[in-house]
Amino acid sequence: MPIRQLPPDIAVQIAAGEVIERPVSVVKELVENAIDAGASRIIVEIKGGGIEQLRVVDDGAGILSEEVLLAFQRHATSKVESADMLNAIPTLGFRGEALPSIAAVSQMAINTRPAATDAGFNAEFAWGKLISEGAHGCPPGTTIEVSDLFGNLPARRRFLKSATAESGRIHELVTRYSLAYPEVSFHLKVGDRVVLNTQGDGRRANAALAVYGAEVSESLLEIQEEDPETGYRVEGLAGDPSLHRANRTYMTFFVNRRWIQNRMLTFALEEAYHGLLPEKRYPLAALNLVVPYEDVDVNSHPAKREVRFRQDGKVYAALQRGVRAALVAYSPVRGIQGTI
Ligand code: ADP
Ligand code: MG
Repeated sequence: MPIRQLPPDIAVQIAAGEVIERPVSVVKELVENAIDAGASRIIVEIKGGGIEQLRVVDDGAGILSEEVLLAFQRHATSKVESADMLNAIPTLGFRGEALPSIAAVSQMAINTRPAATDAGFNAEFAWGKLISEGAHGCPPGTTIEVSDLFGNLPARRRFLKSATAESGRIHELVTRYSLAYPEVSFHLKVGDRVVLNTQGDGRRANAALAVYGAEVSESLLEIQEEDPETGYRVEGLAGDPSLHRANRTYMTFFVNRRWIQNRMLTFALEEAYHGLLPEKRYPLAALNLVVPYEDVDVNSHPAKREVRFRQDGKVYAALQRGVRAALVAYSPVRGIQGTI
């Protein structure tokens, strides 16, 4: 075959394959968009593991009628204006890939209205093609509904786990975000069941109470430590040493409130608890690292799940020392040994 450039409808499907791996990827992108839009309340409703249907409702800024269709074009974003902005990205989104990617692999509807405008706008897509659009009354904010995910990609659909397993991933994601954004009220409904409801009053302890229940949250310490050398801060919740788990799933890390996976941070946290937990037991923690935007590259993973730090060592030290200091302060009498 001769070399040729792929037509846009094929290109977008390939891109979608990287960004949208499973239902939880859709929820992640939509929740991140809602947060970027300044929402104070985010409702997530899923049916059939999010494959059959999922809906994300927010009360954020909304999209102007004349910009809605543009938002579904590839690389269309309101978050990046110039190349140097990529060196210090303050928003969760920046690539303008999520909406077109989701639309390419589902049936998708959007209703949106900025609070200052009278009429909202509705658009519907099927497998990436616009099928209807027009003015549409709706409350301020944005509602996005996605149905029949991967209905046009049977191979991808077969690769998904059971509805229960996919729901579990979504539950986990929303839970983690609710801990990082205590000022946002998160509401998650799986089928007919409300499985998470946070107040959004800005108090992390209240978010933890909604997520973990009273017993666990009583054992959580509020962490708020600044590394004197670098100014890097670590904030969030970490269990006192009486609280531990059999695996590492309960360690959640955010960098500038972006949920990421990072082995180094896992090690740093385990190191902070060194000598305090029984063998083969792991801490429960949800921690956010606050580092200057220019010290972290968030553009290194298609689903933005991983980041690169300019100086790993400094990040490691800030987390390990910050948590250790909080643990020592919690338990001065028992005299936690070791360096901080
Ligand atoms: P990105 O988030 O990388 O900019 P997306 O494809 O996720 O790309 O969204 C494209 C644009 O649509 C965003 O830049 C934003 O302007 C707008 N948008 C998407 N979702 C929302 C929302 N829930 N509320 C307000 N604006 C939104
Ligand atoms: Mg986005």
